[in-house]
Amino acid sequence: MKLSSALCVLALAVSSVHAKEYTASERAIRLAQENLLIDTHIDVPYRINEKWDDVSKATKGGDFDYPRAMKGGLNAPFMSIYIPANLEFEGKGESYQLANQLIDGMEALAQRAPHKFAMAYSTQDIEAQFDKGLMSIAMGMENGSPIEGDLGNLKHFFDRGVRYITLAHSQSNHISDSSYDVRRKWKGLSPFGKQLVVEMNKIGMLIDVSHISDAAFYQVMEISKVPVIASHSSLRKYTPGFERNMDDDMLLALKKNGGVIQINFGSSFVTNSSRSWYDKRSAEEKEATSRGANKTDFRAAYIARNPFPFATLEQVLDHIDHVVKLIGIEHVGIGSDYDGVGDSLPTGLKDVSTYPNLVQGLLDRGYSEKDIKLILGGNTLRVWKHAEAYAAKF
Ligand SMILES: [Zn+2]
Repeated sequence: MKLSSALCVLALAVSSVHAKEYTASERAIRLAQENLLIDTHIDVPYRINEKWDDVSKATKGGDFDYPRAMKGGLNAPFMSIYIPANLEFEGKGESYQLANQLIDGMEALAQRAPHKFAMAYSTQDIEAQFDKGLMSIAMGMENGSPIEGDLGNLKHFFDRGVRYITLAHSQSNHISDSSYDVRRKWKGLSPFGKQLVVEMNKIGMLIDVSHISDAAFYQVMEISKVPVIASHSSLRKYTPGFERNMDDDMLLALKKNGGVIQINFGSSFVTNSSRSWYDKRSAEEKEATSRGANKTDFRAAYIARNPFPFATLEQVLDHIDHVVKLIGIEHVGIGSDYDGVGDSLPTGLKDVSTYPNLVQGLLDRGYSEKDIKLILGGNTLRVWKHAEAYAAKF
């Protein structure tokens, strides 16, 4: 016992050498608490579908639960109706089935704890529920595969409360090419994808350009009559060659469109060293498993040999700064990817309780309270309102 507690002290001493302590001032906490905070990408639905947990109460694992979200000042998470990309999966009803089940899970959560949560279907809901102290559950669909080439399904998912669709995920689908997929079947959007963008505008469904290929992004820019979001993307400036993030030309196009990029916190989206860590591990893993190694064992040994280079809160702030400098304060928001990026979150931003640290960082960099309000939720709300107003014409 004595020995193990001595080891514990040693472990803490070692980790405190590496990890800077983040504390938010009263002012930063107040700003996070008092202003509308929207995070456009949190992966709770898939997380609890894989391993159920009651996130209306404190949970042991995961990045989101109600008490921590309250501590962080979160008012309106967009819960991700995430559908894994899998060609075998697409077009055979499974995506549609899973999307409906994940939506059911969110409705069940809101109904189980009606004094904590309420579903949000409009910006009016978001504002009214903010005033009442209820946490809004908004929904975005990550991967358009459940649409299955049928505009009736677009209406179905809109009616069920989905308010944005990420056109593709990690593989090209029937709507769009994916940034992760070397096959560029459509050279951007498919003919149906182009039609879908028009219909999404008309119905008031936001278009999410995260994950799609550059060509698809520029085609969306041409077709969409409404500002778009990049619900959980970061900048290619800090991760050269990583098409999943946005480059400066794309940011300039986004400015023209009036849209918002919500910065992803995952370390591998934020720094090149975290990105290369994954690339190197994948390469070595491929070789090791081809020689018969067990994947889990390989990964444990790999991380023991190569500690993961976590990004820091400051590096996340660099992404926000760059967007602001290049295209202005009106075009950046928060899309953390909590519960979607495993153990790769940056120091200082480990879960939904840590938004005040981000606010502190913004204050330290000279952002005004008005600016911070826009980043926390104002910009996202503006784009959503624009989509609602456009759809009201039809
Ligand atoms: Zn994603």
